[in-house]
Amino acid sequence: MSTSDVAIVGTGPNGLAAGVVLARAGLRVELHEAAETIGGGLRTAALFDSGVVHDICSAVHPMAAASPFFRAFDLGARGVELLQPEISYAHPLDGGRAALAYRSLAQTCEHLGADGPAWRRLMGPLLERSEAVVDLILSGQRALPRDPVAALLLANRVAVHGSGLGAARFRGEEASALLTGVAAHAVGKLPSLASAAVAMLLGHLAHGTGWPLPRGGSGRIAQALAEDITAHGGVFHTGHHVADLAELSGARAVLLDTSPKGLLALAGRRLPRAYARRVERFRYGPGAAKVDFLVSEPIPWSDPAVGRATTVHLGGTHAEMVRQETATARRVRTREPFVLVVDPAAVDPGRALPGKRPVWAYAHVPNGDPTDPYDLVRARIERHAPGFGETVVSHRSVSAAAYEAYNPNYVGGDIGSGAMTLYQSIARPVPRFDPYRTPLPGVYLCSSATPPGPSVHGMSGYLAALSALRHSFGIRDIPDLAPGPAAVACGRPG
Ligand SMILES: Cc1cc2nc3c(=O)[nH]c(=O)nc-3n(C[C@H](O)[C@H](O)[C@H](O)COP(=O)(O)OP(=O)(O)OC[C@H]3O[C@@H](n4cnc5c(N)ncnc54)[C@H](O)[C@@H]3O)c2cc1C
Repeated sequence: MSTSDVAIVGTGPNGLAAGVVLARAGLRVELHEAAETIGGGLRTAALFDSGVVHDICSAVHPMAAASPFFRAFDLGARGVELLQPEISYAHPLDGGRAALAYRSLAQTCEHLGADGPAWRRLMGPLLERSEAVVDLILSGQRALPRDPVAALLLANRVAVHGSGLGAARFRGEEASALLTGVAAHAVGKLPSLASAAVAMLLGHLAHGTGWPLPRGGSGRIAQALAEDITAHGGVFHTGHHVADLAELSGARAVLLDTSPKGLLALAGRRLPRAYARRVERFRYGPGAAKVDFLVSEPIPWSDPAVGRATTVHLGGTHAEMVRQETATARRVRTREPFVLVVDPAAVDPGRALPGKRPVWAYAHVPNGDPTDPYDLVRARIERHAPGFGETVVSHRSVSAAAYEAYNPNYVGGDIGSGAMTLYQSIARPVPRFDPYRTPLPGVYLCSSATPPGPSVHGMSGYLAALSALRHSFGIRDIPDLAPGPAAVACGRPG
């Protein structure tokens, strides 16, 4: 039995974003978290040495730097310093070569040589209308675009690159590998329209608001959100796994920062059969299998410039990534899967101690794969950084199957909370005009299993909270999210 106006189940970035909005609207908000600490995908902890912290899930935050929710929340003004690497991401290729996406578009184009003009034609126009592009993709995807030019620019690029015609626009291997490495963030078959949209969004942000890392780790973002909730009267209950909605029966609204599978577990018997069946049909994507390393020195990349990037994509050429990602999406294990490496100390030297440096790396593997990824990830890094293995002081592996045990939202290790197909980007988790509302009165889904999907942008939580304000409390004013007390006094609803 809850005595609050609103109960939120789960404290990932979306649960926290929902909590900020609802607490600032003057409602009594309680947040329930199964784990002993809050944050979901925003946890940072010491794993091997008390002086070195590791990001357990998310590490790099292009979406938090750009999303409408975080623009209004203003992380910088709350003391969260977003550190920008000189090179947003790098993509090593065989023969000691590497493609580099500098923060500067001009420098990137210069580095890409003959393909520089094509890269500029691709990213330049998106950069000029960046805020509109971001607002279009990081939305509930139910309204007409406010900037039709941005929508056209995006639609054209997604059609070309999502259909596989785009690779022919580049002459060399570097530019097409650079773009395909970003498309692989969608974790699914390549090429596809959904992965092309991800490539356009993340690709242009690399030269705009950037791919920053919070000084001290991702946990700083969770901390800033939690402090705001507490300052507006919100209360946290950690170590409480909510097993049934009945536990929260006193609350007028319940927001679930859970997977669709979690929604079924909490509410299954009460849901109308037709809705429940559609939720059951929701498809999960490939898994992530991660290794946290403590290493004695910076990664010895064959091309030393790669060490100036915090994010490194290991997938080889465009054709190789298409093969790997498509096989993985079909549940086939590959010997050389796509691997993403993050070296936070490259931009935040305070993250390392002499002889101790955190490195974060995960491979894309079939959903539910129980295999320890250590050998595979290490070999993938060594191919472009010979001698890396000798620098490993300690490591910890988390298989795709084990990720679900750590966080029930990562079903089978799917860190995107649902396969990123075009259909599921919009119909998350079912086709409905208001995807946040469930057929149960006062029960909302607010996790990344709703639009706009995965990543730390807070938008699913924000939009679900607005829906709850409107439908459960009759409040249409949007609370001010800027630091300090909420400026729009919505008053307590009657
Ligand atoms: C290895 C890894 C790397 C990633 N890297 C990045 C990155 O660099 N940048 C980026 O933007 N994104 C990244 N992501 C994705 C990002 O972390 C997620 O998209 C994001 O955290 C989703 O937020 P959420 O609030 O929807 O859910 P989550 O962050 O998953 O939080 C859900 C919370 O709800 C709790 N919960 C669930 N069920 C219950 C219940 N019944 N009772 C109580 N509590 C419950 C869980 O314990 C969890 O704390 C990464 C994810 C992983 C796993």
